[in-house]
Amino acid sequence: MKNRAVYMQGTNNMVFKDVAVPELSPKDVLIKIDTVGICGSDVHYYQHGKIGDFVVNGDFILGHECAGEVVQVGSEVENLVVGDRVCLEPGKTCGKCEFCKEGKYNLCPDVEFFATPPYHGVLQNYVKHPEDMCFKLPDNVSNMEGALVEPLAVGLHATSIGDVKLGDTVVIFGTGCIGLVTLLSCKARGASNIIVVDVLENRLKMAEKLGATSVINAKETDVIKEIESLTGGKGANVVIDTAGAEITVKQTVDVVKRGGIIVLVGMTPNDEVSFNFMKLMGKEGEVRTIFRYRNLYPVAINAIASGSINVKQIVSHEYDFEHTKEAFDFVVNNASEVVKAVIKID
Ligand SMILES: [Zn+2]
Ligand SMILES: [Zn+2]
Repeated sequence: MKNRAVYMQGTNNMVFKDVAVPELSPKDVLIKIDTVGICGSDVHYYQHGKIGDFVVNGDFILGHECAGEVVQVGSEVENLVVGDRVCLEPGKTCGKCEFCKEGKYNLCPDVEFFATPPYHGVLQNYVKHPEDMCFKLPDNVSNMEGALVEPLAVGLHATSIGDVKLGDTVVIFGTGCIGLVTLLSCKARGASNIIVVDVLENRLKMAEKLGATSVINAKETDVIKEIESLTGGKGANVVIDTAGAEITVKQTVDVVKRGGIIVLVGMTPNDEVSFNFMKLMGKEGEVRTIFRYRNLYPVAINAIASGSINVKQIVSHEYDFEHTKEAFDFVVNNASEVVKAVIKID
């Protein structure tokens, strides 16, 4: 067994290195990685070397959205066998803190998350991971779909925290990967009207293809007026911001219905954003936030397997392992064109 990894070395640069095949602890499995999705966070580290307080020090392996095949199991592994195909939930949590015990393990302060410094990611041939964070893929779910479970889990968590229900009207700001998986999740939960807002025409077309009932190009149309007219002046039950722009965060309160829910998903460039809380109070509206996701890998896999969610439609670009740097550079330089790029590892 030979393991190779691609490291980011400084910003906008990558090198391949031979690395050791990881040694398994009793409850670990060894996975031969097959597909890795490139996430916005990976691209951000590649370009800037940090996200907030998380700073890349030295050469660093990116990638946290992945699926592959189990090739070895630790001595105490009970539920997986060699040959199983699995997708990997990237966060290893302590299991002992109050958050882990409550089942809100995404809030565990001691999480070790793939490709969040100092923990390396999965852009390599072999990775070890605890058995309980590896989820078996049914025969009708491909490795590519398995790699997309991670971003889909974010969309499922956003719509779950936003309590999107049958018959709801939802506004989604942003048509990046997370905006689109949020759209798919809203549809699967039975929302009747899904209004999607962005400034990129090609992405809005994609949103329409994936089931948006109305799309608004904020460059050409007055967003607030248009949503007013689309909702009979009432606004949306749930408004989900995935764009992370100052203007979209501000507009959430203008388009939410009285008593409605706003969910903030996108990260704004500046930590502080001005927001009209008086208007929110006048509507008795709620602002909620999400951090990653929890307990949703089985849900996402079932939804893909049953056909409720067709997530593979969001893949726009595929690269092989040797061209990982080209893939990242393409995503950096063609952000509006790429919805989701994936790397096939040999
Ligand atoms: Zn991701
Ligand atoms: Zn914990």
